[in-house]
Amino acid sequence: MSAISDQMQHVENALLHTYNRFPVVLDHGEGVYLYDTEGKRYLDFAAGIAVCALGYHYPGYDEALKAQIDKLLHTSNLYYHTPAALAGERLLSLCQLPGGRVFFTNSGTEAIEGALKAAKKYAYTRRGHAGSEIIAMQHSFHGRTIGALSVTGTAHYRTPFEPLMGGVKFAVFNDLESVKAQITDQTCAIIAETVQGEGGIYPATPAFLQGLRQLCDEHDLVLILDEIQCGLGRTGYPFAYQAYGVQPDIVTTAKALGAGIPVGAFVVNEKLAASSLGPGDHGTTYGGNPFACAAVAKVLEIFEHDHIFEHVRELTPYFTQRLDELAAAHPSIYARRGMGFMQGLELTADHPVGQVIQRALPKGLIVISAGTNVLRLVPPLIITKDHIDTMVSILSQCLSES
Ligand SMILES: *Cc1c(COP(=O)(O)O)cnc(C)c1O
Repeated sequence: MSAISDQMQHVENALLHTYNRFPVVLDHGEGVYLYDTEGKRYLDFAAGIAVCALGYHYPGYDEALKAQIDKLLHTSNLYYHTPAALAGERLLSLCQLPGGRVFFTNSGTEAIEGALKAAKKYAYTRRGHAGSEIIAMQHSFHGRTIGALSVTGTAHYRTPFEPLMGGVKFAVFNDLESVKAQITDQTCAIIAETVQGEGGIYPATPAFLQGLRQLCDEHDLVLILDEIQCGLGRTGYPFAYQAYGVQPDIVTTAKALGAGIPVGAFVVNEKLAASSLGPGDHGTTYGGNPFACAAVAKVLEIFEHDHIFEHVRELTPYFTQRLDELAAAHPSIYARRGMGFMQGLELTADHPVGQVIQRALPKGLIVISAGTNVLRLVPPLIITKDHIDTMVSILSQCLSES
């Protein structure tokens, strides 16, 4: 048995089999490249599922983490620390929710849990009784814990775990009438991804997002936008809702927030900061510890200082143009969708996306899938034109093989 397959076997023997892993043992990263244990190099267009926004070993990032390790890893939330001040202020300023407040979590799904609790508590405070309903979208993805799963619009994720949280109704994404039809006097919140990720890379239409904001204003509902995947520069904006000119009442973030350190957050606007979660309503032992916050503070500093959002906006036309050319040359590509560096190529049914991903690996390209048959491209935000050209040329080879 080779050393690589030996490592894979050890993992299969030790870990619960909840993932079908690709046959590669990754060892280290540098820039926008990953290397396996045999030294083979891969151009990374997955970024650890839209997490490694700065690639690997971005200048200054490792140093900031190491400095915090040498100082203090963890204190609990019973005390103040400087990294929380920096991370909180920088995140708030990116959200542009005046008077807002941040709660740090360890993951995306926990950010959703907190957002759902904040929305329910807001309704409870206003109406004096519990029992609120939430409207979520079909084909949405919000996470794997029970609350987040309850608002995730894919039946096969949910069914084995029912009954889940009650009072959730599903509407059709980008169909405002279907949302209106679900509103009752019990409704307290609407939750949606600004750009659906796992569901297959579907951006909200401007009319839909603006319509949700209007419905929430009319009915005193909380608008929760899940930007765990599409936020923090992936679309070229700090948050994707800024491209639409729409303000949520709560935004959730994670993935790129720590650029590799597990951390998430939900941010509430001034209205919810004043009348939703208070002392004793919510908590976390680890969430927002000094180490995680040092990572967030550094990542957000780099985003601003090195003009990462501007870079994404500048390169997006080239990225989409190259993908459109690829789509025009290959009838196996049915459609391209996306915003910024969050792009999807939907393949025709006779071209399984898994096969394309498998073919790309030996050619030195890492890509992932989304939805039913969508090739998902979510590279580090620091890629250049050359990397895009290489990706397109490898994908073109993979799509030509039959
Ligand atoms: C990944 C993701 C989540 C869940 O985040 P975890 O960190 O895996 O818990 C929730 N919502 C969206 C939109 C995501 O992409």
